[in-house]
Amino acid sequence: MYDYLVVGAGLFGSVFAHEATQRGRKCLVIDKRDHIGGNVYTENIEGINVHKYGAHIFHTNSKKIWDYVNRFAEFNRYTNSPIANYKGEIYNLPFNMNTFNKLWGVITPEEAQQKIEEQRNAANISDPKNLEEQAISLVGTDIYEKLIKGYTEKQWGRSAKELPSFIINRLPVRFTYDNNYFNDRYQGIPIGGYTVIIEKMLENIEVQLNVDFFAEREKLEAQAKKVIFTGMIDQYYDYQFGVLDYRSLQFETKVMDETDNFQGNAVVNYTDKETPFTRIIEHKHFEFGAQDKTIVTEEYPREWEQGFEPYYPINDDKNNKIYKKYKELADNESNVIFGGRLATYKYYDMHQVIGEALTTVKKEFG
Ligand code: FAD
Ligand code: UDP
Repeated sequence: MYDYLVVGAGLFGSVFAHEATQRGRKCLVIDKRDHIGGNVYTENIEGINVHKYGAHIFHTNSKKIWDYVNRFAEFNRYTNSPIANYKGEIYNLPFNMNTFNKLWGVITPEEAQQKIEEQRNAANISDPKNLEEQAISLVGTDIYEKLIKGYTEKQWGRSAKELPSFIINRLPVRFTYDNNYFNDRYQGIPIGGYTVIIEKMLENIEVQLNVDFFAEREKLEAQAKKVIFTGMIDQYYDYQFGVLDYRSLQFETKVMDETDNFQGNAVVNYTDKETPFTRIIEHKHFEFGAQDKTIVTEEYPREWEQGFEPYYPINDDKNNKIYKKYKELADNESNVIFGGRLATYKYYDMHQVIGEALTTVKKEFG
């Protein structure tokens, strides 16, 4: 008999299992995949730590969370500075003075602000109601057309007019010459990859891989006093209020022998609408690698359906309404705790998942 059955060996499940075990509780962690780590999983191929589920850059403003992850790995000084390739034109991200200078030739912050203001006024947006209006009001129509519209509509498979504006608010807009993608105080990549962190968290804890909770639900539930569930909440409740939409991705990874430096940057976004992938990741650059070869991954977005991984919740009105109904059921459970990106249907970054897991631990154990 276990105190906790933890469904999902991703970041949420692993933090919870680690903390519960530290407090003398007995946990069984299961995952339907054949590895631990969920979407932060990295695999060492040819000496390069490959981010198997897309680029993962750790960033947080919380000293508490930064100190927490640093207990499990040492972090390097990597600063995310993706570049955008729009039909062969290269721009710096996030939107900053380097972007504005390349696009308009402006030199001073005042000139850039003036340019954006002119475009915002011409578009006549006073109270932005969707991603398109929010983007134009933040950076103007030129940047929206070249760097946002195509990328966003590929990524989400929906018109930018139908998407919530909070998605674009993830990106800083800066009137300084600063290409750092994040505003957070702490940032880096764990040396040796993310899998090391999860391995350490799950040390001395029983983990069963290739086990799908739904295939053996009754047997598994009977083995534990409580369940920590980090899978899809709509599936947990047998889709009784309808299916939630998710965005999925397909990753095409290539080992390149012919060059040791394919694109000169870890992340290059392809922001036009014609290129079928959204970005290319060159993994070695996350760790300043000097290997003879290089490994790149193209990321192709697609709608989620059975047989694919659900990577992104789609937090539009329709889906948020459905989620709210599931959440009401979840809030009334006494022996199940729902956590992480899929079970709370939230576009969480890693630091937020760790924060949520530590809050859950506090509630559970005081
Ligand atoms: P997951 O990692 O999804 O773990 C859930 C686990 O549960 C999975 O392993 C799954 O196999 C398992 N599971 C689900 N259902 C079942 C079942 N029925 N039975 C058994 N097991 C089950 N965050 C950042 O901070 N920085 C970034 O740069 C960043 N980049 C990202 C890029 C991409 C492409 C994606 C998709 C996410 C990115 N994130 C990033 C977010 C980050 O991946 C998540 O915040 C974090 O991994 C979520 O952890 P989790 O435990 O909630 O979920
Ligand atoms: N985005 C964009 N152009 C870019 C990068 C991002 O329009 O070059 C928009 C897009 O809508 C994306 C959102 O900003 O979904 C958030 O970007 P982020 O890099 O945070 O996405 P993630 O890494 O979570 O996929």
